[in-house]
Amino acid sequence: MIAEILAVGTELLMGQIANTNAQYLSTRMAEIGVSVYHHTVVGDNLDRAKAALSLAKERGADIVLISGGLGPTQDDITRDVVASCLGKSMNISDEIVEHIRSLFTYRGREMPENNKRQAMVIEGATVLENPRGTAPGQYVAGDGVHYFLLPGPPTELKPMYEEQVLPILRRLQGEENLVFASRYLRTYGIGESAMEIKIQDIVDSQTNPTVAPYASEGEAMIRLTASAATEAEAQALITPVETAIRERIGKYIYGVDDETLPVKVGKLLRAKGQTMATAESCTGGMIATMITDVPGCSDIFWGSVVSYHNDVKHGVLGVEESVLREHGAVSSQCARQMAEGARRTTGADWAVSVTGIAGPGGGTKEKPVGLVFVGVAGPNGTTVEEYHLRGDRHQFRLRTAKVALYDLMQ
Ligand code: ATP
Ligand code: MG
Repeated sequence: MIAEILAVGTELLMGQIANTNAQYLSTRMAEIGVSVYHHTVVGDNLDRAKAALSLAKERGADIVLISGGLGPTQDDITRDVVASCLGKSMNISDEIVEHIRSLFTYRGREMPENNKRQAMVIEGATVLENPRGTAPGQYVAGDGVHYFLLPGPPTELKPMYEEQVLPILRRLQGEENLVFASRYLRTYGIGESAMEIKIQDIVDSQTNPTVAPYASEGEAMIRLTASAATEAEAQALITPVETAIRERIGKYIYGVDDETLPVKVGKLLRAKGQTMATAESCTGGMIATMITDVPGCSDIFWGSVVSYHNDVKHGVLGVEESVLREHGAVSSQCARQMAEGARRTTGADWAVSVTGIAGPGGGTKEKPVGLVFVGVAGPNGTTVEEYHLRGDRHQFRLRTAKVALYDLMQ
């Protein structure tokens, strides 16, 4: 089945909020093997929203997921748009009016008259209850297209998807009640195009599971989605294809499913009963942030020294003044002594250090922007790697933090 996602809201077009609902819904579609062909964003404008919806139908979408515009005010137009496109009428639901009224009563307030707009149900639609807000969602089918009208606030949309939309989609898919299973293989250090060359024939030839590579900030992920009568059978279809992919690019695969770099680093250390620390210059604590974003990291993470200024590299981490003078802060020697200093100071088993030139200024011919040294000090000694990373300042820092975590894993 093919889906489109239509986000309604002038705030989205103005850049006041990001369209995270589309991202969320797309991820969820991928999990159940539905292809999303288009994302559309349209303002709170009846004609333009109608045009957007008609286009989705013309393009052959089977499913249209619509987010936003279910509020009580005149500019909340989604119900009217769908009803009008399908040529259906709307009726007020007394039950929904009472539900909304009870929410207001609970907060000790009167229900404003215009909230009744939210109780307008498209002829033939199934109401999707919204215990977390006033606007119920709706599911309605017409002319071979299945429309889901979902509230804008992500805290309402996500549970509604999970609890009410997903079962309907599963039913629609459910020739013989197919169950879908997905597995994500996380890779690092292989560029998107290099990966494509190595596994393109697998991507092209596989239909169950489908194989889809994605790339983001130096990392790449491969999603395998299979359908079968049971979860176990779907998983069993995935496994041989995973093996085939691992035979080609196995050395780049560091994690599966939700094992991100910091999660994987934590798991590896925990398994060995070991701990880590960081000494960070150009990343300013980003590696420590990534590690501490993972709940339960306190048993493996001892601490971080953000040693931006040379005085801190020397005074706190013990980098020799002669190293700073002769080789500079961005040098292999400095990275080595930063890592060793952090290991010594914190008492952790491992310490990773980074020192580099984030730019945009400050680069020279010998030491250009993007140059970074990553040191890893551990029980068996210290290694230092040199990298030349691309991207703007933020991307450079993010990529440096990732490469440092990756090096630590080796
Ligand atoms: P409400 O009853 O709250 O008005 P609604 O269904 O009319 O709900 P909108 O008015 O379109 O939804 O959006 C309400 C809020 O939901 C927005 O202010 C924004 O915070 C969030 N939101 C809306 N659309 C999106 C989106 N596509 N991605 C992420 N957040 C969104
Ligand atoms: Mg609204």
